[in-house]
Amino acid sequence: SKRGRIDQFIAGTLQVSKKAVRELLITNKVLVDGQFAKSPDLQINEFSHIECNGVVLRHYQKQYYMLNKPDGVVSATIDDKHPTALGLMIGVNTDMLHIAGRLDLHSTGLLLLTNDARWSEALMAPEHKVDKKYLVTLANPLDQQYVEAFANGMYFEYENITTLPAQLTVLSSHLARVVLREGKYHQVKRMFGRFRNPVLALHRESVGEIMLDNQLTPGEFRSLTKAEVDSVF
Ligand code: URA
Repeated sequence: SKRGRIDQFIAGTLQVSKKAVRELLITNKVLVDGQFAKSPDLQINEFSHIECNGVVLRHYQKQYYMLNKPDGVVSATIDDKHPTALGLMIGVNTDMLHIAGRLDLHSTGLLLLTNDARWSEALMAPEHKVDKKYLVTLANPLDQQYVEAFANGMYFEYENITTLPAQLTVLSSHLARVVLREGKYHQVKRMFGRFRNPVLALHRESVGEIMLDNQLTPGEFRSLTKAEVDSVF
């Protein structure tokens, strides 16, 4: 199924330029099935054995998943007290997966997992300002002051930052939708903390164009569609 050029494979796997790959090829640093590969357009497939500078390069497929994170699950690979998000992904080889944008222990909803570091970087880097949408249940009633305070941004002394303008919509007395374009540590909770209003539940509905699939019950996951993956770049 997977055929392609040797230079593309090496450039993608080692994250180096095509020019750097040509250098490796002409200096006999690349072996394909035991033979020196000289030509950048040499065709390889998923069964080709490829070594570069004596290191075997693994063929791996890029993987992208969404998980409906349940309450009480940690956004981590290992934890000795709580179940982990990766532990829920039965039947998936999670060795290479990382979480793109973690959620707190008691937060629920859309969690993205991938082995594509460039993709998660594009999604989560603060300068890209991708919208993250949350449904937030509060202990105390909301009012219009919240809308303004979120829109104006809040100063946090500890990091010496002012939050970017955030959109808060009051959905009912104790329920709000919040859209953030950044993700500081415990940001939603800390913003409501300004009003001494504890967050009782925090549910992520979307990240950028990627929306939590409402077919997924808590703990369930699925692969992203090509359109969802491509929406990031
Ligand atoms: N803000 C929080 O406080 N917690 C989260 O899990 C996500 C955003």
